[in-house]
Amino acid sequence: MTQHISSRVRALAPSATLAMSQMSAELKAQGIDVINLSVGEPDFFTPEHIKQAAHRAIDDNFSFYTPVPGYLSLRKAICEKLLRENDLEFTPEQIVVGNGAKHALCNTVMALVNPGDEVIIPTPAWVSYVQMVNLTGGVSVTVPAGIEQDFKITAAQLEQAITPKTRLIILCSPSNPTGSVYSHDELKALANVIAQHDNVFVIADEIYEHINYVGRHESLAQFSEIRDRVAIINGVSKAYAMTGWRIGYVAAPLWLAKAVSKLQGQYTSGASSIAQKAAEAAYNGPQECVETMRQAFLRRRDLIVGMLREIPGLKVNVPHGAFYVFPEVSAFFGLRHGDTIINNDTDLAMYLLRQAHVATVSGEAFCAPGYIRLSYATSDDNLIQAAERIKAALAQLA
Ligand code: PMP
Ligand code: GLU
Repeated sequence: MTQHISSRVRALAPSATLAMSQMSAELKAQGIDVINLSVGEPDFFTPEHIKQAAHRAIDDNFSFYTPVPGYLSLRKAICEKLLRENDLEFTPEQIVVGNGAKHALCNTVMALVNPGDEVIIPTPAWVSYVQMVNLTGGVSVTVPAGIEQDFKITAAQLEQAITPKTRLIILCSPSNPTGSVYSHDELKALANVIAQHDNVFVIADEIYEHINYVGRHESLAQFSEIRDRVAIINGVSKAYAMTGWRIGYVAAPLWLAKAVSKLQGQYTSGASSIAQKAAEAAYNGPQECVETMRQAFLRRRDLIVGMLREIPGLKVNVPHGAFYVFPEVSAFFGLRHGDTIINNDTDLAMYLLRQAHVATVSGEAFCAPGYIRLSYATSDDNLIQAAERIKAALAQLA
């Protein structure tokens, strides 16, 4: 029989971050000692009090379907978090909890974008944004910001990218894959531009909110002139080391939250009951664990940046948030080792995997050729070894 796959899914690229991580797991299974700096997830275990809440939820029979937008108690906890930490007022009706921030984000893009609508995506950008837009039949308009501008777009660049067809902007700060963090003034300048264009909506992906080395998190939603046109994406995956629990949310204007909830009701239903109770404990419980992990990431940031800067040919800026570093690697293009020729960042990432046994992700996957991404959410020992191996492998290219 003909293998009939819809054009929608055929047009979709697989997730490069997850693919690289899978490849590294396969090599490991063959007995090869691979250091995996590809996928971005905290290496810490979920804090004990959060795990206890999940145990309790099982014992207390939280085993039935959950409300489509999430338990009211969790949505209340999220509203309290938004008020406490971000000074933003939301009602529980404006929150829709999904299976991870990725799901909440995809739901929101689906609810907003029609075929032909333009979606502005500053690049480097996380792998899934363009693909989510592809699913809707929308058109991604990428706006590049290289290392020379700390990977952040300017208000003038944004203004230039907006057309009558622009429906949405997706902005990520702190950023995956660059670790760049927009300052209050930089966000304000972007908000001023957005305010001039009534039909343009914004998704602020704030999943790395708590992994920030420059101080208070700045949200695009804080600017009153665009407040009713911003949806915040966030969740427990990164801040509380809960990637596998799959709880994220969108906080949005009511009309949009209702649309997202309708979509979710037909598509996946409410998120896992046990994971929601765990997430509730994360938001309502002690927050010291978040700070402890942030400090560990900061120390590792300094460690890896220091070591990478010692490697000739790599151009490395200092990331101010998240747990990624995004060096520029074009100095190695055109070089070879034996039969292997490095023509681009994908070749380099594959070379590092095969030669150094270090898994990274090519910049290409983030719409940013010429770079590679390393996640430093791993032990100091792994980071030290990985940097040594990368240095040795790159030194063999001539
Ligand atoms: N946005 C960005 C920028 C991310 O890096 C991730 C992590 N995969 C997500 C969203 C999705 O997070 P989650 O694991 O909660 O789906
Ligand atoms: N956000 C993580 C990353 O970029 C997890 C993988 C994914 O969901 O793409 O590595």
